[in-house]
Amino acid sequence: MTDIKSMTQEELTALITAHGYPRFRAAQLYGWLRQGARDFDEMSNLPAQMRENLKTFCYISVATIAKKQVSRYDKTVKYLFSFNDGECVESVLMRYHHGVSICISTQVGCKMGCTFCATGKSGFARSLTASEMLAQIESAQRDRGVRIANVVLMGMGEPLDNFDNVVRFLHLAGDEKGLGIGMRHITLSTCGIVPKIDALAKLRLQINLAVSLHAPNDAIRAQTMPVAKAYPMDELLRACRDYFAATGRRVTFEYALIDGVNDSDACARELGKKLKPLHCHVNLIPVNAVEGTGYQKSKLQRQQSFAHILAANGVTATVRRTLGSDIDASCGQLRRKYTEEKGGRSLGDIQ
Ligand code: SAH
Ligand code: SF4
Repeated sequence: MTDIKSMTQEELTALITAHGYPRFRAAQLYGWLRQGARDFDEMSNLPAQMRENLKTFCYISVATIAKKQVSRYDKTVKYLFSFNDGECVESVLMRYHHGVSICISTQVGCKMGCTFCATGKSGFARSLTASEMLAQIESAQRDRGVRIANVVLMGMGEPLDNFDNVVRFLHLAGDEKGLGIGMRHITLSTCGIVPKIDALAKLRLQINLAVSLHAPNDAIRAQTMPVAKAYPMDELLRACRDYFAATGRRVTFEYALIDGVNDSDACARELGKKLKPLHCHVNLIPVNAVEGTGYQKSKLQRQQSFAHILAANGVTATVRRTLGSDIDASCGQLRRKYTEEKGGRSLGDIQ
């Protein structure tokens, strides 16, 4: 069965004409897919016989809401979506003053094994197709009756470990016949797979790059992020500089502050020194204490001291406002909770 929702219009036209239909039928079908049609029977301008025939060789991937929680405080919504094969991922919809944003997943699980991460702890099942990434956005839009303006690839999974599907997704998401979300409104977060950052830079897409750093040097980084052993920080920062040179897009560094692990003044000074030459911004995130990791978030005073030292070293940093803190809306924690939460405490309004 062919995943037609992941196809470009050219690819779909080739497929549909090869099955003996005229090009305009392919254009109609493509339009339906980009508009988020979930079933061939919705496609009222296609002949019934064609719809039946399509069902024999292709399918439309959908993201069905398996579970939904709405934050009492700020209307952040977290979804657990299930796909055609029953695999589940999480997405989080957030409302900011500048519009609605969604954090989507790119894989079911993750191979990277970061020790602080709920996703990393739950292993890896498979990568998502481009259509499954689109379907998360479409389902959330339909559910809330909103238009999503910004997308962050910061949910479950490592986007650059699913490079081709993610790039395909980026192109399809930008199609004006569909979601029409431009590259400048999309942010990709990576743990730092250097050759893939280089490959992304070569494409010169206008997407924003976020890099999960979480340490000022390789020794500390390797304690929590196995990927640090494969790609040392010097190489990673070189790739970030090149990404900025190729795209003109400022790189953001994510830094989860973990009590007693990476939050000392010395760490802040070392980080500041390394990042100063880069045109970048640092997001400081008090780590979410995931059960079984033993990590705790840094004390408030530590968070502030860390940010001040970075600023004094010429690096702009913000301590990130956490949305949906009552529903574990931080990406990576939702699915784990779902699979573990059998009649456990209820968080937010479960619908
Ligand atoms: N794999 C990509 C994107 C998904 S993870 C990456 O690692 O960047 C999205 C972000 O959440 C990353 O910055 C990741 O380091 C961070 N993260 C994961 N677990 C976290 C936790 N327990 N507390 C705070 N941030 C966490
Ligand atoms: Fe994977 Fe990102 Fe979690 Fe690391 S932080 S295990 S790369 S999802």
